[in-house]
Amino acid sequence: MSRDVTVGVLALQGDFAEHADALRAQGVATRFVRRPRDLEGLSGLVLPGGESSTMLKLLDIQELEAPLIAFLRSGKPVLATCAGLILCAKKVVAPEQRSYAVLDVEVARNGWGRQIASGTFALRTDARSGLPNPLSGVFIRAPRILAVGDACKVLATRDGEPVLVRQGNVLGASFHPELESGHPVTRMFVEMVGATEAKRVVVL
Ligand code: GLN
Repeated sequence: MSRDVTVGVLALQGDFAEHADALRAQGVATRFVRRPRDLEGLSGLVLPGGESSTMLKLLDIQELEAPLIAFLRSGKPVLATCAGLILCAKKVVAPEQRSYAVLDVEVARNGWGRQIASGTFALRTDARSGLPNPLSGVFIRAPRILAVGDACKVLATRDGEPVLVRQGNVLGASFHPELESGHPVTRMFVEMVGATEAKRVVVL
């Protein structure tokens, strides 16, 4: 990846450090995003797992919500995992919570069970996704995708239910790809960043 490509990782709360490590392992420069100006010039953004309700409070305190929404709608690649997926969903239930609606999915927070039900599970992937099959996914108090709109492609399932979806350049995972050895989903995201940058260079 060219040296002027930097991917941001929202770093208010949660496992942002692991995402930055996973990106760096793919040779990508990273920047932690904590203030609006940290979003400037980024080629992509990761919204990590953590606690979505806390993230919403911190986004508000940091006055980061409006610029974040603008970035999410910009068409640049976004990897939204677990709590990040909850932030990006069109609708959040159990309990209801505001969200940014860049992924046409309805999610239930903690829908795969509480901490005691957390663990690593085998996922079936779409053959066209380029992901290994099966893929293993770490679920930690993970959101359950209850409904997927037509605009969203399902790239991986757990027991037949969607757990990895893509809408345009936004990739949403119920699980934690940054904790998976070899980081196949992170690699896929980095390819999306590379492809988007290549198009941008052609247009310029
Ligand atoms: N249960 C958390 C939430 O509701 C998400 C858990 C996670 O990101 N690992 O935000």
